[in-house]
Amino acid sequence: MSDVVITPEVLARYNKPGPRYTSYPTVPAWTEEFGEAEYREALNDLATRTEDPISLYVHLPFCAERCTYCGCNATVTTRTDVVDKYLDHLEQELALVVPQMGAQRRVVQMHWGGGTPNFLNQPQMERLVGLLNKHFAIDSDGEVAIEFDPRIGSVEQLEQIRELGFNRISFGVQDINPVVQEAIGRIQPFEQTEKLFRASRELGFSSVNVDMVYGLPKQTDESFRDTLLAIRDLRPDRIACFSYAHVPWVKPNQKLIDVTALPDTFTKFSLFRMAIDMMGEVGYDWVGMDHFAQRDDELAIAARERRLHRNFMGYTTRPASNMIAFGMSSISDLVGRFAQNEPHLGKYQKMVAAGKLPIVKGYKLTEDDLMRRQVILHLMCNLELPYDLTRTNYGMSLQDALGEDLERMEAYVEDGFIELLPDRIQVTPLGRFFVRLLAMELDAHLAKTSQRIAFSKTV
Ligand code: SF4
Repeated sequence: MSDVVITPEVLARYNKPGPRYTSYPTVPAWTEEFGEAEYREALNDLATRTEDPISLYVHLPFCAERCTYCGCNATVTTRTDVVDKYLDHLEQELALVVPQMGAQRRVVQMHWGGGTPNFLNQPQMERLVGLLNKHFAIDSDGEVAIEFDPRIGSVEQLEQIRELGFNRISFGVQDINPVVQEAIGRIQPFEQTEKLFRASRELGFSSVNVDMVYGLPKQTDESFRDTLLAIRDLRPDRIACFSYAHVPWVKPNQKLIDVTALPDTFTKFSLFRMAIDMMGEVGYDWVGMDHFAQRDDELAIAARERRLHRNFMGYTTRPASNMIAFGMSSISDLVGRFAQNEPHLGKYQKMVAAGKLPIVKGYKLTEDDLMRRQVILHLMCNLELPYDLTRTNYGMSLQDALGEDLERMEAYVEDGFIELLPDRIQVTPLGRFFVRLLAMELDAHLAKTSQRIAFSKTV
């Protein structure tokens, strides 16, 4: 990638706001008309597909304090009884949802995200694992993952997490530089991160990963290089390198960020380029938009073999399975529907206590949406569009399926973003940086939704 030249002029021209396509259609297209009845119908459809495995996501929103850069749906508390009460409501939500799905379902993937899942103490984690095991048959070789904040963790807690059956763990690191940490309200001595990271290896987690962020206040080329070197020395299996999105009108906690300390667009982009180059030199592949994986990791192999997928939990090697999500703000993705839970803690708890499925919005995909979803996600993950991609499911070529939209996308040949090969459209190394622009040409909802939300830019 180091031979791809992107000047400030090129960046200014193509760095346009656009969706990240973690879903298609993207959230702004979803509607409040999709509610409890529609989600119930989706679950009942799932009940007829008894052989389909499922994935589970559980949202655990609690954090001891709020980082100023945070873009998650998090709730600050120091009280364990608040967590106990939340677990009561998760138990009720499970009791409302699970009977709608028919026989006990096989789970191939589970992810606890947050907030800070390891804010839960041992009895609370045991309780939640017990509840999930009561309702679901979690595969012994399934991917069972948890997000982990080293600031409040310990080796003892890691042992407990491992004993509970988690085999994947991702460490929130963001940046190791004390000045940057001060600027984002997240003081995290690297020694603590390193000690717990190495303990995870010894405890036999099969995948030990790191989340970092570029574009944070006070980040410079020099400071970010130090962060990359430190993370490189840990040798995580996978690294998520997220772009910081400064949206204080959506996330008021970000108002505490000093905007004058944010790197400008080109500096921010240079930081990401540095990550690509440095990680590439030590055996990592750039995967998807913003991940790196060791070259022999199954995620990197899947990307090379063009069979990478993604869902709301991130990139995965497994073809999409239905994902059922629990907890406030969580998003389910099942049998052609998206459904989002109430994002406000008090309202979520009230709805569940009243015996209601706490859905506030969602979307039922049309045939056209399903086809475009397959195409856009394949493009975003695998950086190509075989002309036969839609043949099996929709009985027609990509050209027949997408018509003028595909022709509009093909115009990016002139910009050097794609090449037209006999059997497929291939994204070039330059086009990879702006792949969202290509996907936007195939998005049938964008004209309607872009007026309703300001999407983030490429960097
Ligand atoms: S960034 Fe993570 S730890 Fe910090 S407040 Fe947000 S969810 Fe909590």
